[in-house]
Amino acid sequence: MEEFQGLRTSVQEMLDVTLTSQQLEAFRRYQSDLISWNEQFNLTAITDPAGIEVRHFLDSLTCLLTLSSGTSMRVVDIGTGAGFPGIPLKIVCPQMRLTLIEATKKKVDFCQHIVDSLELEGVEVLHGRAEKVGHDGDYRSGFDWAIARAVAPLPVLVEYLLPFLKIGGHALAQKGETAHAETQIAEGALGILGGQVDRLIPIELPGVVETRYLVVIDKVAETPGAYARRAGIPTKRPLGGRRGS
Ligand code: SAH
Repeated sequence: MEEFQGLRTSVQEMLDVTLTSQQLEAFRRYQSDLISWNEQFNLTAITDPAGIEVRHFLDSLTCLLTLSSGTSMRVVDIGTGAGFPGIPLKIVCPQMRLTLIEATKKKVDFCQHIVDSLELEGVEVLHGRAEKVGHDGDYRSGFDWAIARAVAPLPVLVEYLLPFLKIGGHALAQKGETAHAETQIAEGALGILGGQVDRLIPIELPGVVETRYLVVIDKVAETPGAYARRAGIPTKRPLGGRRGS
């Protein structure tokens, strides 16, 4: 298990979480399957073992700075790709009830494969668009946390995330250096959707120059039924943009 000593140490130091040997073994298998599937299907741009360890696994786990690990909260990860950040969080928080939503079928298949092979319980993998699933009564207003990494600019992303949340729930967007600017631009959209920025948490990953940010948003009011708009519209016409648009 030596290859994951770095992950174990960083998770301990940054998050005060001790990974068990079973969890480290789960990460090892996840990494190995991600590398082999990626040779056939283009699942992720980060394919070297060290990159996967830090930029996928550790970066995903930094969500635990705001998400508490002990409770059985309901979490949705939108645009999860090859399972980030949702699956690493589930490996460390077995009680979490997790829904993964992804628009690309081959990525959905990979996530389902990992969920089956690691025997993760209480995980649902959905093939679909966030704009559509967010209107489904089984999912709308049903979650404590809606999270996403590298899916869309924040004004667009909040239209995907907010419909899934209960009032009192939280959205969490993992962002890079543009986090502050994106947060400012998203204010108009948040006013429409019932969200309010709580805080930005800066994160330094070992060996990564760029500062990363967790943008935490509170759901303070019901999202009007018209949102999210039809698939593709949030990207084409982000909410709260220029007057008249
Ligand atoms: N969150 C992953 C993947 C990021 S790539 C990671 O950080 O590694 C963005 C992913 O979001 C792509 O796989 C894309 O198919 C998916 N996606 C983009 N818009 C979406 C939408 N509206 N609904 C569902 N999935 C979406």
